[in-house]
Amino acid sequence: VLELLNFHKIDAQPVNPSKPNENYTAECPFCGSLKMHINIEKQLWDCKKGSCGKFGNHLTLITELHRKWLDLTTAEMYESLSQERSGITATALQEAGFAYDTLHHRWLVPYQNGSEYLNNLGAFNPKAGFTIFKSPGLPLKLYRPMNKADADLEDTIIVFEGEWDLLALHPHIPEGYSSVSVPGALTFKQEFIPVFQGRHVILAYDKDDAGKAGIAKAVRLLNHVAESIQYLQWPEDFKFPDAGNSDKPGKDIRDLVAHLS
Ligand SMILES: [Zn+2]
Repeated sequence: VLELLNFHKIDAQPVNPSKPNENYTAECPFCGSLKMHINIEKQLWDCKKGSCGKFGNHLTLITELHRKWLDLTTAEMYESLSQERSGITATALQEAGFAYDTLHHRWLVPYQNGSEYLNNLGAFNPKAGFTIFKSPGLPLKLYRPMNKADADLEDTIIVFEGEWDLLALHPHIPEGYSSVSVPGALTFKQEFIPVFQGRHVILAYDKDDAGKAGIAKAVRLLNHVAESIQYLQWPEDFKFPDAGNSDKPGKDIRDLVAHLS
């Protein structure tokens, strides 16, 4: 839990420095009092300030943190991030629940599936790049911001390599298709497989060797589960620039969307 607090800029101090495995206190990110109490053994936190009284575990902490900043995120902030990140619309960012933490100048990215609680909360500071770092100590799940519950998934699921490609193509995806993204080309975990049971799958991975290897892996894992599998085969002679640096060749869906729009 200390790792998670540190990732989310909550500075916790041991109540008794000679017993660092017991209790910590921190400034509560919700009310600003110094009464946030953390029980390391039980992995629980609670704010002792009566008017705040928030409490919970890892998942309630990231869910509450996200909600706090989401409520304060404005249309102008989405527009500004959209301008910085070619190929991504402000509407897609808003629909995916991106939230801007003005205190630490970073964007928070919620990961959620069927539960009312987030299963992870990613973060990135655009000044330092657009890699979305995930909260430590929590398992990586499929990213599915537009279809959180299994029941919301359509018969055809497009699988992207990473969050940005999913968000880039989202405004162009017709009715009847759902989109999810895997954490990386070769990161296809066993627990992802049931989601694709009986569904038509389209793999839209990158135009590079990792993308090809990722497709091979996903096909092997989904072959006996999916109703059908198609994948994007990039024509080798089809050239387009990188969305962030026009001197470099493009290699993914976001580069392509930015190039065509
Ligand atoms: Zn509090």
